[in-house]
Amino acid sequence: MLKRKWIGEKNMYNIALIPGDGIGPEVIREGKKAIEAASKYYDVKINWKEFPFGAEHYLKTGELLPDSALKEIENMDAIYLGAVGDPRVKPGILEKEILLKIRFYFDQFINLRPVRLYQGVSSPLKEKTSKDIDFYVIRENTEDFYIGIGGRFESQNYQQKHILERGIFQTDIQINFDLDRKEEIGYQLGLITRTGTQRVIKYAFDFAKKKNLKNVSTVDKANVLSDMYGLWREIFRETAMQYPQIMTDYFYVDALTMLFVSHPEKFKVIVSPNMFGDIITDLGATIQGGIGMAAGANINPDSVSMFEPVHGSAPDLKNKSVANPLGTILAGAMMLDHLGERETASSIERAVAQILQEGKVKTRDLGGKSSTQLIGDEVVMKIFIQPNRCKL
Ligand code: ATP
Repeated sequence: MLKRKWIGEKNMYNIALIPGDGIGPEVIREGKKAIEAASKYYDVKINWKEFPFGAEHYLKTGELLPDSALKEIENMDAIYLGAVGDPRVKPGILEKEILLKIRFYFDQFINLRPVRLYQGVSSPLKEKTSKDIDFYVIRENTEDFYIGIGGRFESQNYQQKHILERGIFQTDIQINFDLDRKEEIGYQLGLITRTGTQRVIKYAFDFAKKKNLKNVSTVDKANVLSDMYGLWREIFRETAMQYPQIMTDYFYVDALTMLFVSHPEKFKVIVSPNMFGDIITDLGATIQGGIGMAAGANINPDSVSMFEPVHGSAPDLKNKSVANPLGTILAGAMMLDHLGERETASSIERAVAQILQEGKVKTRDLGGKSSTQLIGDEVVMKIFIQPNRCKL
């Protein structure tokens, strides 16, 4: 639940800032700058509370993300995150103990990723324009093959008890292999629940309705993984009946990836189970001009949501001032929109669209030479000179 406070005429929000690792602090600095510039003109006040969590803090102190910090963040309005990940730390530790811990603690069951090709940005799909690539992927964020239940063994018999704890349910899972000979086996379990699926599909339809978008597509592999995705499809069909004004399409994931490339204009809102959502959103980031452009949000409408660029810490670019901050800046706009500050968010989106269309300043990934900071400065400048802002 949003905890908006009013101070005089202003709406005030408390935001947890986690710059993190690699290029995280560089891109977050620019995102924060853009949010502050826009907030000035729309009577919004942001109180930032910065948290040090990430590789540097872990290597120095051994601390990853203490429960006390989660408790503190519970009373805040949103989280704005750069990236976590560092070659000095074994892969998985920071991701699991910081990112996933936040996602599960706040049960952020929606991963929202806009896929938009801005004018002035070139897509590898040379014939497609900004009119053709403009849609949203809403990915389920807590279930499917990413529940973290699996194992590996080499033997004839194997027993393992797994405990699965999630926001909406918990269960013990007993695995028992009784093979006719010794074999090496790796297994991974996927599952979806009716409650978990219903809530994300309903969110997708409500989202389409709110944005006046007339189509919601679903993606799965119900022809092969028929139990799990058969349930997904059934719930999609049931939910769609409550939204007769919205058209629907059903795609198997293999067909959908082809359409992303050949006919991206077909899509408005796509709702996807966790794993396929992970894959298709990277494809989405590529057709929208690269990972540096892509923004994402981990949302629980009734708890604390987290806004971040889609890219990771990109250690190869750290401290070189070449990282593209636009994905992070756009994630900041998504955060303001989520908080109910639509106009403030729009002013940032317009500023980004303007600098991309003009094409005078671009980072290296977009074919230019401008620094991370210069892009942030230009976004701020465009926010200040927008003709339709509230106050001069
Ligand atoms: P992590 O392990 O934290 O995910 P990674 O480097 O493996 O980090 P990403 O950070 O997502 O994965 O990026 C892959 C590559 O894409 C980077 O090495 C970098 O070259 C490029 N890249 C990522 N983000 C940006 C950005 N904001 N601007 C420009 N290039 C970027």
